[in-house]
Order: sequence, then C-alpha cells, then structure tokens
Amino acid sequence: MISVAIDGPSGAGKSTISRCAAKVFGFIYVDTGALYRTIGLAAFRRGYDTKDKSLILPMLPELNIELKYNENGEQRMYLDGEDVSSDIRLPEISMCASNVSAMQEVRNFLTDMQRGMAKKYNVIMDGRDIGTVILPDADVKIFLTASLEARAMRRYKELLEKGVNDSFEEVMEDMKMRDYQDTNRAAAPLAAAVDAVTLDTSDYDFDESLRRVCGIISEKTGIKAAN
Ligand code: C5P
Repeated sequence: MISVAIDGPSGAGKSTISRCAAKVFGFIYVDTGALYRTIGLAAFRRGYDTKDKSLILPMLPELNIELKYNENGEQRMYLDGEDVSSDIRLPEISMCASNVSAMQEVRNFLTDMQRGMAKKYNVIMDGRDIGTVILPDADVKIFLTASLEARAMRRYKELLEKGVNDSFEEVMEDMKMRDYQDTNRAAAPLAAAVDAVTLDTSDYDFDESLRRVCGIISEKTGIKAAN
C-alpha cells in the first residue's frame, strides 16, 4: 500500500488539497482532524470542560466512533450511530478538538484507526503528526504551510460561504491560539518530519498548490495522476 502524509497548521489548505490529490491518484482521503473533532464534539455535547482529563478520559471507552465513506467517496464521521460530519465543523468545536488532542491518551485511542486505514488502502492522510508519529514510514511526506494571515483569510472566506459570520480578527485569533497549542503541546506537537518536503502556499492559489502537491507525490512514488 502507498501512504502519503500531509501535515501542517490549520488553514494551510491541507484538507481541500488532500481531497483533490486523492481523487487525482485514485487514493482514499483520510481527514484525521475529523476524528479529534468527533471526540471534541462528544465532550462539548456533554457540557464537559474539554481541557479536563478527568472528564475526557473516562468518556473514551463509552464512545462509538466510526469513519465511513459515502457513495461519493466522501468521509463521514459517526458518533454513536449519528452522522455528525456537519456538527464537527462548527467553529466552537475547533478549540474543543485542539484541547482533547493535546492528551496523549486521546491520541493513542485514535492511533489504530488511522494506521488501520493505511494498511488497507492507498491513502492520502492529513493531520498534524501523520509523518512524524502515525505513519513514520509513509512513502511521501509533505508539510503544507502558509502565513498566519493567508491561512486566516482562507478560513474566514470558507466560513462566510457556510454562513458563519465570525469576523476576520476572531478567525485569526482562534487560529493563532490553535497554532500555539498544537505546536507547543507535549503529545505529538505539530512539526515537520525531518524527511518531509515543506511547501509554503502563501503565494499560491489553490490550483498551483494542488499542482505542486501532485508533482511531489508523482516524483516520490513514480505514480502518474490517474484523473
Ligand atoms: O485539521 P483540523 O483543524 O480539523 O483539526 C482539528 C484539531 O485537531 C487541530 O487543531 C489539532 O489540534 C487536532 N489534530 C491533531 N492531530 C491530527 C489532526 C488534528 O492533533 N492528526
């Protein structure tokens, strides 16, 4: 099986680019942030303080989290049988996901699910620690990044399209906090693997970013784009 690991800070375009690149190569796209978001949502719904380990850890064995693909090949997340794919995208869930993801036990809880996908399928998997921890032997590792301003602007526009009216300043502040938290935590901090190719997309539009990512994948695997 072939594995492509794409890591980087939030708003770098990882998920959209990874999804499209997976289509291009005929691979499965695995969005690992959705797993942490599902746990964050479960805690949020219970009214828990998502930084409180004494509440989050006992909750884990009670959760039934499933990652499925619909007929269009889109990843869907299920929490105790309910499709929560839209709810996990709510802005307030981002920080909950970041909080729970800082706990090593939460990361361990999700490790097998992620590795299992890469064993079964050719994958493009995006996250924060895919190239460093989850798939250290991935065939291709890309660290996708962009300036804070560029990332916040992209996320701001994305939210506007979804009808979420957070101000640009709020979006940037949230992103800054998550960057800080994700980079400075003890458990699997956001970092580029030593053997990753770093791609800064601040000055690229989407098409150019995708073209470059696909170029790196082709070059490293010898596989030509299928679509
Ligand atoms: O990628 P996304 O923004 O959806 O991820 C939500 C949060 O989950 C991130 O801020 C990060 O804290 C956490 N995460 C992680 N490891 C991953 C994917 C996401 O810690 N592999």
